[in-house]
Amino acid sequence: MKKLSETRYIFVTGGVTSSLGKGILASSLAKLLQSRGFSVTIQKLDPYINVDPGTLNPYEHGECYVTEDGAETDLDLGHYERFLNEATSQANNVTTGRIYQSVISKERKGDYLGKTVQIIPHITDEIKRRIKILGSKGNYDIVITEIGGTVGDIESLPYIESVRQLKWELGTKALVIHLTLVPYLAATGELKTKPTQHSVKQLLEEGVQPDILVLRTEYNIEMSVREKVALFCNVGIDSVVQSINVSTIYDVPLKMLEEKLDITVLKKLGLPFNDKIDLSQWNSFLTRLKNPTQTIEIGLVGKYVELHDAYKSIAEALVHAGAENSCKVNINWIHSESINSGNYIGILSKLNGIIVAPGFGHRGMKGKILTARYARENNVPYLGICLGMQVAVIEFARNVLKIEDADSTEMSPKTPHPVIDLMEQQKGITDYGGTMRLGSYECRIIECNSNVCKAYNKLTIHERHRHRYEFNDAYRQKYIDAGMIPVGINPETDLVEIIEIPAHKWFVGVQFHPEYRSTVLNPHPLFVDFVKNSLVK
Ligand code: GLN
Repeated sequence: MKKLSETRYIFVTGGVTSSLGKGILASSLAKLLQSRGFSVTIQKLDPYINVDPGTLNPYEHGECYVTEDGAETDLDLGHYERFLNEATSQANNVTTGRIYQSVISKERKGDYLGKTVQIIPHITDEIKRRIKILGSKGNYDIVITEIGGTVGDIESLPYIESVRQLKWELGTKALVIHLTLVPYLAATGELKTKPTQHSVKQLLEEGVQPDILVLRTEYNIEMSVREKVALFCNVGIDSVVQSINVSTIYDVPLKMLEEKLDITVLKKLGLPFNDKIDLSQWNSFLTRLKNPTQTIEIGLVGKYVELHDAYKSIAEALVHAGAENSCKVNINWIHSESINSGNYIGILSKLNGIIVAPGFGHRGMKGKILTARYARENNVPYLGICLGMQVAVIEFARNVLKIEDADSTEMSPKTPHPVIDLMEQQKGITDYGGTMRLGSYECRIIECNSNVCKAYNKLTIHERHRHRYEFNDAYRQKYIDAGMIPVGINPETDLVEIIEIPAHKWFVGVQFHPEYRSTVLNPHPLFVDFVKNSLVK
């Protein structure tokens, strides 16, 4: 619940290198502020020209995260939701492509009335409008805006310029946190601050004086080094904060609490604070996470496994589910193209449970189908997510229903047995961007004795989708007769959203993405039940 009359804005920029963890820093600070009673949201501005990451190959920026309202967004939004336990929306992710798209469409409508349309003020005004939207809706005391990329990049200049203007307009109601790297030179045994000094100079050149510096480091940063950074970068010593390597990202809020980052932020924004901060649920999660009583091996079979970020939400959902079961989940990252009929038993037989990941296109399909077969025939818990469900359906058709050429029309458009087929409403679509079945849909669980029903412990659920193909209803009865049962149905369209094999220990395929809804405080029931059943010998 919002309690401040005016929203405060915090900007998080990054310097020196990318991948320092701006998203985790923003999420951790937000968690602390939330735990002190403020309502907080986090927004990501991505400087690339794609309108959204939906059309990007996961090798580029990792997983595409989908919000309740069906926005295809940057994976950092997944962290925001997992930390804050609150849904984000399209407004929480803005790209340069989206900014230009709206400015150009206004220009075509004649909205600029003969003016020359320029980066300043038109692009920057649009950026500022998108930053302020979240505050103006009246729901948030504090909006944290993470600027993607690294300061000094050409493409992030309009964003930094917008931050400069907003700081000027908002005065003490806005502040900038700059995250940099303090590398350790083994040869001299020293932590070096020069890259941070240069990065701050770069920001100053662009007109922005950071208010707080967060220094990523592998080693503890001594006071003398902090004083040096403070002196060279025009900030007080309290505003130099270290962010040291930790074993889990979920420790970062506690590290930031130790460094009093939240207090420094609140002081600078002129907001009240006291000793009260409620992190009890967070801490009990961490206790469970760090004190597992068992270990299990879960296979994650997909075609992008070289880049773990491509399956970020699945990996995190397994962390949450592991903690809930007091067990450590070891993810075995298995490339679907590496699995063949000669080696699959060797690869899969050491696993306690198997997930076949979402995906697009035919690469790696053979390995995925072999995997589903192995799990089905050997009573190994199986969770098929989106394409992973479709794979299980194809495998069942081929090896149980004995329809040898059954396939998805995505993989073989002319298959005589399209057990997975393009959804009716997808048939006329030619554009790729933003045109899938996206976002949250209701699903009714129609089999009360199913594992799925026991896991959710309710009959109506809402889950997020991102796909074009579906279970082909023409085959429904054949599947039911042979023991693969549709247990979850879309009440409006009757689409099959969940299948299960009741004769199996735990074999579930879901057309949606449960991983997007798993958070630290609300581990997803399907992942929790999947891990629980994988623990049972
Ligand atoms: N390619 C499949 C479809 O579009 C599955 C998509 C997914 O796994 N997200 O239906």
